[in-house]
Amino acid sequence: SSSDTKTEAPAEDKADDAKEASDTAAPAGGNIVGVVMPTKDLQRWNQDGQNMEQQLKDAGYEVDIQYSNNDIATQVSQIETMISNGVNVLVIASIDGESLGTPLEKAKEAGIPVISYDRLIMNSDAISYYATFDNYMVGQKQGEYIKEALDLENAEGPFNLEIVTGDPGDNNAQFFYGGAMDVLQPYIDSGKLVVPSGQIEFAKVATADWSTEKAQNRMDTIISGNYSDGTNLDAVLCSNDSTSLGVQNALASSYTGEYPVITGQDCDVANVKNLIAGKQSMDIFKDTRDLANQTVKMVDAIMQGKEAEVNDTESYDNGTGVIPTYLCEPKVCTVDNYKDLLIDSGYYTEDDLK
Ligand code: BGC
Repeated sequence: SSSDTKTEAPAEDKADDAKEASDTAAPAGGNIVGVVMPTKDLQRWNQDGQNMEQQLKDAGYEVDIQYSNNDIATQVSQIETMISNGVNVLVIASIDGESLGTPLEKAKEAGIPVISYDRLIMNSDAISYYATFDNYMVGQKQGEYIKEALDLENAEGPFNLEIVTGDPGDNNAQFFYGGAMDVLQPYIDSGKLVVPSGQIEFAKVATADWSTEKAQNRMDTIISGNYSDGTNLDAVLCSNDSTSLGVQNALASSYTGEYPVITGQDCDVANVKNLIAGKQSMDIFKDTRDLANQTVKMVDAIMQGKEAEVNDTESYDNGTGVIPTYLCEPKVCTVDNYKDLLIDSGYYTEDDLK
């Protein structure tokens, strides 16, 4: 393994744990998969839920699917109900990665393996596998896009940047931020990028609940404090589409300078429309059909007492050790390739985007 710089919890050990869990835990005869999604409010989770349900049913499983209304207590009780109903495997996209320790202890006692879906569930040793997109790469691609769009290598600058990332309870948010800042921080350090609000640290740029409204309010304040005198804002790093939409709303209501470069993630319909209209510069396409497909393969492996296919056994330590992970690939989507990526692939119809 190449993880010799890490001292704790070697990946191999964890992979063995995962294998043991799946070997012992698929009770003969049962084929019920419990799927828990965080919310119906954001488009992507509806799509994730629909894809999971469809693909699991096609593979012959019975599916119990619940959406948790972005409420931790609701999510906990949904999981507890699934455990007492005797589901055979749990697939969970958490709201807050730190809040599921207790219900998942019960899952472990009942011998129900858990797949952490899209977001890593932290500090629980009940997690057998993690299926997600390469979250660091998402941030890296957003950072690279800003770097290219402003031509940071060659242009003189300085350019003004603001940063809007996601919910602090979502482990992914740190990865998105980290990937992007690894690209952008050197330019901040050299002075080619300036952040007039002074808000750079993760804690200052986080957006609770990934809320559009909260992102918009924060951006309103930043605009009135730093850009109302006609100062140009050149780029906004937005970690995802819901926050990006908030920023776009704030710009529309109170910003008068040249329109900035703005990033996003998810290719939500509203954002792709804005991409086409020139209000958002790029998006990250995460094909939720691929993620569902990989997750169903994990379910299959667990049900058959086999080891699931993973492609990362180093990056995602949830505090109990490294969780064997399958990383799907995020893709950059712009006005130049959205037809290929989104329409030709059947993800959306042309009408969806009108
Ligand atoms: C997901 C993003 C999503 C965000 C808000 C993250 O965990 O990876 O795709 O935009 O949550 O729902």
